[in-house]
Amino acid sequence: MRVAIVPGSFDPITSGHLDIIRRAAIVFDKVVVGVSKKIPKNTLFSADERKAMVEKALTGMNNVDVEIFDSLLVEFARRHDAHAVVRGLRAVSDFEHEFQMAQLNRELDSKIETMFVMASPKYAYLSSSAVKEIAEYSGSVKGLVPDVVETALAAKFPSMKGGR
Ligand code: ADP
Repeated sequence: MRVAIVPGSFDPITSGHLDIIRRAAIVFDKVVVGVSKKIPKNTLFSADERKAMVEKALTGMNNVDVEIFDSLLVEFARRHDAHAVVRGLRAVSDFEHEFQMAQLNRELDSKIETMFVMASPKYAYLSSSAVKEIAEYSGSVKGLVPDVVETALAAKFPSMKGGR
């Protein structure tokens, strides 16, 4: 059984993240989405809220689980007997950070491979922070995020276009 971890902050999950998770779930037998609890930046949503939105967005994907983790990524991967960590790559600007993380994780555990999935062109410009900024300044995030996230953003930013 080939298991992959797809880690991230998912604050909130976007259509770009979903695309990466879906594609990882085609290649691997099982995918565990790791929602990182502790991240350097302040999050808009709590870890529990972020996890609940990921779960809802992944409804019907039977080989994908979602879990909050608060440990080193390699430890989380070992706990799940994962062979790989899958990350999405958008532009060259993602590369430096991802390269550093992959090398560090290899240093910590050489048995866990980091693999990259290229962002689909239609989501290559999409990020959680852009989505939050659009919502905050009353724009529409329709299609950029799953419906559950659109509803959650509308609750945080009542002036958002299409907000309920
Ligand atoms: P982190 O804070 O760990 O970077 P994110 O939740 O922002 O977590 O992103 C998780 C992963 O998803 C990263 O590998 C990131 O490059 C990737 N990702 C984010 N947005 C997109 C997108 N629009 N298309 C493809 N991959 C993406």
